[in-house]
Amino acid sequence: MDNVLNILKPERLWYFFTEICKVPRPSKKEERIASWLIDFAKKHKLECIKDECGNILIRKNASAGYEKRKTVILQSHMDMVCEKNSGTDHDFDKDPILPRIEGEWVKATGTTLGADDGIGIAVQLAILEADDIAHGPLEALFTMDEETGLTGAFGLKPGLLKGRVLINLDSEDEGQVFIGCAGGKDTLASLPLRTETAPASFSAYKVSITGLKGGHSGDDINKGLGNATKLLNRFLWNESRECGLRISSYDAGNLRNALAREGFAVVAVPSAHAKAFEISAEAFHKDLVGELHVTEPQLKFSITPSSAVSTVWTKELQNSVLNALYACPHGVLAMSREIPNEPAKLC
Ligand SMILES: [Zn+2]
Repeated sequence: MDNVLNILKPERLWYFFTEICKVPRPSKKEERIASWLIDFAKKHKLECIKDECGNILIRKNASAGYEKRKTVILQSHMDMVCEKNSGTDHDFDKDPILPRIEGEWVKATGTTLGADDGIGIAVQLAILEADDIAHGPLEALFTMDEETGLTGAFGLKPGLLKGRVLINLDSEDEGQVFIGCAGGKDTLASLPLRTETAPASFSAYKVSITGLKGGHSGDDINKGLGNATKLLNRFLWNESRECGLRISSYDAGNLRNALAREGFAVVAVPSAHAKAFEISAEAFHKDLVGELHVTEPQLKFSITPSSAVSTVWTKELQNSVLNALYACPHGVLAMSREIPNEPAKLC
């Protein structure tokens, strides 16, 4: 019962995975798996380098006829997340992981399996060992301590790798290749809060947008969801022009990487325009429902009379904030014309 995975294909990949399971490899304690890899390289007469940081690099020449191809780097990480069920008597520093087959899954008994990234290592070793796969020059990079600090990746020195194409073997989605991901840029802007006494004969209202789904600013940006900050701003921007609305307080969104789910403002409107303001709010509500009822069925927009406010923002501040927020784009600006469902790269 040494190799319970030996019924799985590709056979050599699962063979190596089983072997790796026997080598303890908690994060920051990769010495044993590193020596094991060095032994593997020696046994197969492959060039092997251990860098200052502890990363292992194994090189394999191109197969005949492929010498002129670009060097491809295959990369995985040596360490694994070590978690065990309560009551499991397992010492990750010395005990082997015990893989088993359960239905269509490979699992471990009582502990994490370490398929992250053991399966990546197994892929590299199976390719390094094979003599029936045609390939250009290969560099197999095994980094250390990915899980608790990306220490190996950060410690890589320029010049170690010859290749310029890298395939990372540490994905969670089978059958998919990632060619990029969302990038982020934070902009912090602050303006001094300048207020003045609220004008006489103004009526105060609380304006609320709630019920939006929110979501991740990268992962959910292509789903047509609403952004409470932008929607609220649109209303305030319009009404500051139409009805002479003045802002007393304004609070929308909370995390820089989350789509704003809620937004609130307390505003003052000249009492003479109060009726027009209420009608306009109703029309705005209808517009929002018309635009977003498919993606944001729980959206709520309301204005409710509020107790009188004593101060409002200066007109200059109000215009600066409303214009700045109006100018900020929300959502995907363009989609790739080559790859379906892929936001375009914009420069
Ligand atoms: Zn991983």
